[in-house]
Amino acid sequence: MRKNIVAGNWKMNTNLKEAKKLVKGVRKGIKKLELDSTRVIIAPPFVNLPTAIKRAKKSKVEVAAQNMHQATSGAFTGEVSGEMLKGIGVQTVILGHSERRAYFGEKDAVLKEKVDSALTQELEVIFCFGEELKDRQADKHFKVVEDQLKKALFHLEANSYKNIILAYEPVWAIGTGETASPEQAQEIHAHVRTLLAKKYDEELAESVSILYGGSVKPANAKELFANKDVDGGLIGGAALKAEDFIAIIKSI
Ligand code: PEP
Repeated sequence: MRKNIVAGNWKMNTNLKEAKKLVKGVRKGIKKLELDSTRVIIAPPFVNLPTAIKRAKKSKVEVAAQNMHQATSGAFTGEVSGEMLKGIGVQTVILGHSERRAYFGEKDAVLKEKVDSALTQELEVIFCFGEELKDRQADKHFKVVEDQLKKALFHLEANSYKNIILAYEPVWAIGTGETASPEQAQEIHAHVRTLLAKKYDEELAESVSILYGGSVKPANAKELFANKDVDGGLIGGAALKAEDFIAIIKSI
């Protein structure tokens, strides 16, 4: 049975004090929740990862990184490798976020390398994909997500998928306040499962958690998560307020 997951992407937000407060709030907020089939992940900025890991210890809060470099080490000023993340106790890394694709020029080929590198380090990957508004307007959204997945993931052996979480994040819905409708999310998630079943098999397709991301908030989380192929969310803005993030977790 695949797990439900609510993951918070803090992006370039939180100073040390704010990060401590937010971890505490999330930790406290989930304490009394029945979370047997739900994972809770937070992804603070790199500099706050050690503090978050320390403060999340002995709780159900897992800590992820927002990015990593594909090389293990070397002359890549300003970058952080998967090996370094693993070394401080990070278990999961977000890759392919649309902001990395748009502002840092990360193309499918480099994302493929990053995925391989992360899996080699035995890191779990939250792999983000999703179409831009122009793709949807041109009715190309199914094809665009298919290409993104094929180019960065479909070279993997089936057994690698136990360490892959997918996150459908339509670019037009990220940080815009505009959310995909539950139907729009469900049809892409179902499409992705069909692609996985064709490339691998039905069992694998049913085993991979697929999250929705894009302006999820307490007011819309329930109807998005109610869809059969939506296994939770990747949350940006609403993950920065513990009470909103907890409300979203409760919507699962
Ligand atoms: C994100 O950054 O992954 C995201 C979904 O952001 P927001 O929830 O703010 O749209």
